[in-house]
Amino acid sequence: MREACRTWAPRLSAWFDGECSDLDAGEVRAHLLGCPGCRATASRWGALRSDLALLDAPEPDAPALQRMAMRFEQGLAREVHDLARALRVWRLAAALALAVGVGVLAADRLFLPGPVQASPQRDMDREWDDFMNKPSPEGPSLRRPQPKPGTPQGIPASAPAPPEAAPSRR
Ligand SMILES: [Zn+2]
Repeated sequence: MREACRTWAPRLSAWFDGECSDLDAGEVRAHLLGCPGCRATASRWGALRSDLALLDAPEPDAPALQRMAMRFEQGLAREVHDLARALRVWRLAAALALAVGVGVLAADRLFLPGPVQASPQRDMDREWDDFMNKPSPEGPSLRRPQPKPGTPQGIPASAPAPPEAAPSRR
């Protein structure tokens, strides 16, 4: 930009923004006619302005603005709620971990004064054998029904015939 044009720059800018008097506007236009540098500057600004106009979305109407605000608030509320819940969960987990740790420490000191003694293998084997050798409880669901004398194949007369008794249907 030429030195003379530097003095024009504020007026050129004001003219470009439509913020100058008619007299100034006339003078700026006259200068632009004879000054390619200022014309180039003004046309650069013009290109910038149309780019900005492309970026500038049309102003949304009031209901749309309200919906956007509501959505924003709902999203914000949900975010805050989720964050609070996550914090609660973490606090609970931390408290549980702390309680478990303290409990383990306390149990270690209170209930296990000596070295931990595991049951010998033979004791466990004996208990298992005792358990297995116990007479099993008598129950109709656990045992097969014994065939009654007089009933063919041990099936009660009132029971419906099992599939084996009707081979003709297959
Ligand atoms: Zn100029």
